Amino acid sequence: MSNPFDASHIANPSILSMRPYQAGKPIEELQRELGLEHVVKLASNENPLGPSPKVLEAMAKAAAETHLYPDSNAYELKKRLAAYLSSESTSIDIDQLTIGCGSNDVLDIIARVFLQPGKSAVYSQHAFVVYPLAVKATGARAIVTPAKDWGHDLQAMAQAIEADTSLVFIANPNNPTGTYIDRKEIVSFLDQVPSHVIVVLDEAYIEYVDSEVSTDPVDGIELLSQYPNLIVTRTFSKAYGLAALRIGYSISSPEICDLLNRVRAPFNVNSLALSGAIAALDDQDYIERSRVVNRSGMAQLTKGLDELQLSYITSAGNFVAVEFPPERIKLSTQDIYDALLKLGVIVRPVAPYEMPNHLRISIGLEHENEACLKALKQVLSV
Ligand SMILES: *Cc1c(COP(=O)(O)O)cnc(C)c1O
Repeated sequence: MSNPFDASHIANPSILSMRPYQAGKPIEELQRELGLEHVVKLASNENPLGPSPKVLEAMAKAAAETHLYPDSNAYELKKRLAAYLSSESTSIDIDQLTIGCGSNDVLDIIARVFLQPGKSAVYSQHAFVVYPLAVKATGARAIVTPAKDWGHDLQAMAQAIEADTSLVFIANPNNPTGTYIDRKEIVSFLDQVPSHVIVVLDEAYIEYVDSEVSTDPVDGIELLSQYPNLIVTRTFSKAYGLAALRIGYSISSPEICDLLNRVRAPFNVNSLALSGAIAALDDQDYIERSRVVNRSGMAQLTKGLDELQLSYITSAGNFVAVEFPPERIKLSTQDIYDALLKLGVIVRPVAPYEMPNHLRISIGLEHENEACLKALKQVLSV
């Protein structure tokens, strides 16, 4: 029977080519579906340590005030962030900070401010999937450059900028590939980008970048004074362990920040998230522990993958993309994913990233990584 009312005719046409974001499978969902008790979720790059106890304490206090609207200007958090982000070489002021409901919200706000039909945005193949979603929702055109060794080809990206381009997205490290771009390359890219094109440097995983990852690491904040067209985004979802609170932010020039705040929804960040983020920022010991756990978990997981003779993309983040080449492995990547689910291990398919033969595995605690490797071994040996 035909539907007498087809809402798609009146929808923004650029929405029609979009697909809903596919999140990692929730633990409860798998328990419900398969009646499993023990489930290991290594699917969403969450911090396996759980939240800092200091965050829980701060949130419990803030919970007594949930009848009040949150501070829409996030003054206290911005003040703390400005102090935290400022260094000897760079001073960050609160009028440079835009707080979002996750950095996803900030990325969306940026797209809505700088894109519209007739404009274009450049991003890389295999880049974070929120970029295509944010761009398409505005009706702007996406220019996708082919990846180089799974990572961003900045040369190709610079050359792909057209007259109508107003925005470029770069994730460093990138998700889901884990690829990393050194400072020298980023600076040389920024030098080539016309000053009227905004560059978004998404540093969701910057806390995990250590000297083993790069001898020439880049901190976008130190580049802001030289490149006024730069916006740096960061999040409390990954190393800070607050994914459920939905809170992230951008650092930019005060002028860009003012534009972003015109589009930002009032009260886009709730008061529990604000108080939790302040406490998380104060607990840098937790971040150091997270780095240690990630470093050893990455070593454990990649050693296990080596033993299984599986190849993976070297990752600067808290996850690794593992390849299951169809010419060598009988099971399809989707079959492997499904078989892992049956064994109570949730990883992440990355077919929407044009990586149909990879699964992304987040770094967990030692026993979680162990369970994942054991399940992989079992699945691949049949
Ligand atoms: C997880 C992630 C984010 C952050 O998402 P939130 O909305 O802050 O939870 C941003 N960029 C990349 C590349 C990510 O992987």
